[in-house]
This record gives sequence, C-alpha cells and structure tokens, in this order.
Amino acid sequence: MLEASCHCGAVKFQVPGPPAFLVACNCSLCRRLGQLAASYPPSEVRFIAGQGITVPYIQGDGTLAMHHCPVCGCSTHAEGLGDYAADWMKVNARLFDPAVIENWRVRRFDGADSWTFLD
Ligand SMILES: [Zn+2]
Repeated sequence: MLEASCHCGAVKFQVPGPPAFLVACNCSLCRRLGQLAASYPPSEVRFIAGQGITVPYIQGDGTLAMHHCPVCGCSTHAEGLGDYAADWMKVNARLFDPAVIENWRVRRFDGADSWTFLD
C-alpha cells in the first residue's frame, strides 16, 4: 500500500501499488497544473483524509472533475463523471514521496493535439 498526501495533509489517500505508468499530459489544464497522473480503478483509491472536502473543477465537455485541496491548493486527483464515473480515477503522483515514484515510467501524452502518446 502506498500513501500520498497534499502539502498541508488535509487530503491523504492510499493506492495498492505502482500504476502501469505515469502520464504527463500537455493539455491546456494538465500543463498548467504540472501534475503526473496515475490511473487506478476508483475502488482501488482509498481516501484516509479529506474525501469530500476537495474542490472540483469541471470544464470542457464535463466528462471529468479535477480536484484540489481547499487548504493548500495542491491538485489531488481527477474523477470521471457520468458514463466515466465507474472506471476512471487518476491521482496526482506528485503527492507521493519523490523516492516512491522516482523509478516509475513516465509517458508523455499529447492531450493538446493528437490525443496519442508521444513515445
Ligand atoms: Zn492540502
């Protein structure tokens, strides 16, 4: 079990282990947030603090909500909405200790244009 926390500690979650890879997306939102996304089935992400206090940001076609901590502002996770709610959850891997993620594979995703991986 791996645990991550926002800067202030108001939001903490656990995941069972490393994802297949991390995603660095260059879309208009992800590039501004500077996050690294780690995908899990929603049932595998366990909030141990702060569930329900995070602030959602919903834009574009409204298929996902990007959440941040209301206290320290860290981007914490993104959840799918509507048809995507059951199988779509991404956590911000930058909330893990850097030593935990240092050897995880990072794939660059061209969310800004071609909607494909660049590797
Ligand atoms: Zn916080």
